[in-house]
Amino acid sequence: MLSTMQDVPLLISRILVHGSTIHGTSQVITWTGEDEPHRRSFAEIGTRAAQLAHALREDLGVAADDRVATLMWNNSEHVEAYFAIPSMGAVLHTLNLRLPPEQLAWIVGHAADKVVIANGSLLPLLAPLLPHLKTVEHVVVSGPGDRGLLAGADVQVHEYEEILAGKPTTYDWPELDERQAAAMCYTSGTTGDPKGVIYSHRSVYLHSMQVNMAQSMGLTDQDTSLIVVPQFHVNAWGLPHATFMTGVNMLMPDRFLQPAPLAEMIEREKPTHAAAVPTIWQGLLAELTARPRDVSSLGQVTIGGSACPPALMEAFDKLGMRVCHAWGMTETSPLGTVARPPAHTIGTEEEFGYRLTQGRFPTSVEARLTGPGGERLPWDGESAGELEVRGPWIAGAYYNGPDAEPLRPVDKFSEDGWLKTGDVGTISPDGFLTLTDRAKDVIKSGGEWISSVELENALMSHPAVAEAAVVAVPDDKWGERPLATVVLKEGATADFETLRAFLADEGHIAKWQLPERWTIVEAVPKTSVGKFDKKVLRRRYAAGELD
Ligand code: ADP
Repeated sequence: MLSTMQDVPLLISRILVHGSTIHGTSQVITWTGEDEPHRRSFAEIGTRAAQLAHALREDLGVAADDRVATLMWNNSEHVEAYFAIPSMGAVLHTLNLRLPPEQLAWIVGHAADKVVIANGSLLPLLAPLLPHLKTVEHVVVSGPGDRGLLAGADVQVHEYEEILAGKPTTYDWPELDERQAAAMCYTSGTTGDPKGVIYSHRSVYLHSMQVNMAQSMGLTDQDTSLIVVPQFHVNAWGLPHATFMTGVNMLMPDRFLQPAPLAEMIEREKPTHAAAVPTIWQGLLAELTARPRDVSSLGQVTIGGSACPPALMEAFDKLGMRVCHAWGMTETSPLGTVARPPAHTIGTEEEFGYRLTQGRFPTSVEARLTGPGGERLPWDGESAGELEVRGPWIAGAYYNGPDAEPLRPVDKFSEDGWLKTGDVGTISPDGFLTLTDRAKDVIKSGGEWISSVELENALMSHPAVAEAAVVAVPDDKWGERPLATVVLKEGATADFETLRAFLADEGHIAKWQLPERWTIVEAVPKTSVGKFDKKVLRRRYAAGELD
């Protein structure tokens, strides 16, 4: 028997209409580097998104399913694109502006993007790429930047504000199938070619509701969220959509992602929440230590993308910025787990330990652990295996062109359709995930596994250490051994023997796991989304650059 409920598709246009009316006075505040940031209300975003959709359809000929790419920072125009493109039935493709140019060109070609909306400040990146972007017919430029760079390009160039001007401020958003493609994002390709994940209207809608739940970020229209995580990094973790559901103000840093402007933004605009990967917060912490600022507004900081070092959580706690640790990936939209400690641990010694785990799964994310022989492992907090997940906002395949069968590589999807995350860890009986490592970063030494993350966290709790990344390097006797690369804090000194002793004494690292290879570096190389780039470290070691 079927229900008697209405069958209303879960569409992004509904989130847009809701946010721009019910929460019309909430704001997107974009940092400009000038005295005043730029402010635009959700109501204005709503009318401008309608104008953008008209322009894309009528001036540029964008039709259903056409891919419209964005090469943009986090700002209000990017939010407009976020809503206009999927709502009109086209597909938003956010481009990661930190990828090597050849990878960007590959991705644009693979997605067959027809239009690129670009920030003017990114034209120096886009212009030399254009001759290689064979599918791109139109470039729309928004914000300051040298348009002259596009002279001679074999595309039609449009001004963002000009194509919006005079267009109707409402749009008859089509009633789409909620399972239709809304947005796409490529994994950053740490192994092999990048893989395209396509989110549906339904997955974005449901994911946004989860982001808003008190067990996740739990924000309301009294909050302002500083969204540092780029809009090209898994839809800024779903925040632009989620905030439009609840009226949370968005504080967008645009291209001002350095620690000093971030600290200034926090002091001046007083966000109550912020979200970014750990490396951003390490930078902010160093800045605040050198030049203290009033950051007391920032009650909650969501950290994910890589493991949150305990020392960072402690330091932020001391500044009154309570860290909430979360885990996810491009394939999981990204929200997979959030570390809200269970009620009975609040105020006890156990609480901090729970906050350091990757967290608990929400209702819509089912999880299981698989051992090396494919066997299911118990949730006993001890048995470590590969995490597999499934749910309505988890990818079931990768994009392989509009007319091709989606890709389901066997190393990424189980036979019964679960996503193999490539992350190794344990799950406690009360459902808390603790990741020990990425499968490809684990150090396999003499038949035993050493967690690179555990060594890094222990090292980063030493007062002289700013950053530390540990990678496996080949070893004749043991197969692999850890190499510790360490960045010292400004003016600090520490020798390797001291650090080794610290790992053993304070970090409780077993003797056989202690690295014997060490190197001091000026900075740990970062990936395009700001994580430690261990591939580069391994390559540098192989080339003899890290001895
Ligand atoms: P990339 O693979 O390029 O890093 P993603 O952003 O999709 O792109 O990365 C997802 C991966 O990031 C996860 O599979 C996991 O290894 C890692 N990750 C994300 N959040 C956390 C976290 N809180 N703790 C540890 N690892 C994390």
